[in-house]
Amino acid sequence: MSTPPSPDTPDMAALAEQIKLWGRELGFQQVGITDVDLGEHAERHRRWLAAGYHGEMDYMARHGELRTRPELLVEGTQRIIVVRMNYLPPEVETTKVLSQPSKAYISRYALGRDYHKVIRKRLSTLAKQIEKAVGPFGHRAFVDSAPVLERGLAQKAGLGWTGKNSLILHPKAGSLFFLGELFTDLPLPIDKPYDKIHCGKCQRCRDMCPTQAIVDDQVVDARRCISYLTIELNGPIPEELRSMMGNRVYGCDDCQLVCPFTRFAKASQEDDFAPRHDLDRTDLLTLFNWSEDDFLDRTAGSPIRRIGYEKWLRNMAVGLGNAPYSAEVVAALEARLDYPSALVQEHVRWALDQQQHRQSALITVSPAD
Ligand code: SF4
Ligand code: SF4
Repeated sequence: MSTPPSPDTPDMAALAEQIKLWGRELGFQQVGITDVDLGEHAERHRRWLAAGYHGEMDYMARHGELRTRPELLVEGTQRIIVVRMNYLPPEVETTKVLSQPSKAYISRYALGRDYHKVIRKRLSTLAKQIEKAVGPFGHRAFVDSAPVLERGLAQKAGLGWTGKNSLILHPKAGSLFFLGELFTDLPLPIDKPYDKIHCGKCQRCRDMCPTQAIVDDQVVDARRCISYLTIELNGPIPEELRSMMGNRVYGCDDCQLVCPFTRFAKASQEDDFAPRHDLDRTDLLTLFNWSEDDFLDRTAGSPIRRIGYEKWLRNMAVGLGNAPYSAEVVAALEARLDYPSALVQEHVRWALDQQQHRQSALITVSPAD
C-alpha cells in the first residue's frame, strides 16, 4: 500500500464526511468507518469455530487470523469503510410464498443480479472518487467473499447491533440489506460503534427458526441453518432436517421475516435486485423441470448459479418431498430417478417416499368423505 497522508489532519475529517456523501450518492443507505480492532467479535468468532458450528465451511477455520485481523488480510489497512445497501425488491411476496407449499421459496436477496458484482462495482467507484481527492491510496473492496468479519465491522462502524439471529439490525431498516467493505490505509476518523441492543425480551427469531438453528443469542449453528444446507453444503442434506425445510430451496429468510424490525425495511430501488424469471413466485415443479441448460441460462449473473445444477436439483427434490401429493410431482421425480448423480438420486428417492406417505394418508382419510 502507498504511504497515507499524515494522521489527524482536518482534511481526514472532511474527507470522511465527503466519503459518506459519495456513498449515499452511489446508492448505499449507510456508510460508517471503523478501525481494525475486532475485539469481542474476534473472540466470539473463535468460540463459534471451536464449537464446530461452521460445518463444512473449512475455509472459515483455514483463514485463521486473517478474518479477525484485517491488517493481516490487506497489509497497511488502518480503516474500513463499511456500507449497507437494501435489497428487498418492491412488491415481492415473502410469507405468502412460504405458506404455499407447491411454490419455491428463494431467499429474497438472491432473486436478481449477483449482489457481489453490484456492490463491488460501487465500492470501486467510491475508491476512484477518493483517489481523485487524495491521490493514490491503498485500498481493497470486499463483499461477502473473503475472510472478513463483516457483521462485527458493521457494528463497530455504527451500522447497527447484532440481533439474536446474529444479523446486523438497524432500528429504522431491519436487516434486509447487504454489507460491503472498503479496506483503506487512510487514517480517517472512526465512527462510534452501535452499542445499543434493541432485541430486549423478544426471541421470535429463535422460536420461529424452522430447524432450531439459533442455538444461543447471536449464535447460529450453520449445520442446521437452511441457508447453509441449501447453499454451502455439498453433500446430502441430513434427513432429519429435510421435512423442516418446507419449500425453502435456496437460503432462508424466516429469522428476518419474523423480526419486528423488518417492518421498517425499505424497498430497494436497484433494478439489479428485481426478480428474474419469476423466481419470487414459481412452482417447485417448474424449477425442478429446468434442464441444465435452462439453469445455466436463467441463473447467469445471479448468485444462485454458484451452487450448480446438481445441488439445485437436490434442493428442489427436498422441496417437492415436502409439497402436497400430486401425480405430476411423482411423475417428475420418477423421471429423475436415473439422473447421473448419486446425490440427486438419493434425494429424489426420499422425496418419492414422502409423496407416497402423503398419498397413503389421503387414501386413509377418504372413506369419511
Ligand atoms: S436463516 Fe432460517 S434456518 Fe437459518 S437461522 Fe435463520 S431462520 Fe434459522
Ligand atoms: S426477532 Fe427479536 S430477538 Fe430476533 S433479532 Fe429480531 S428483535 Fe432481536
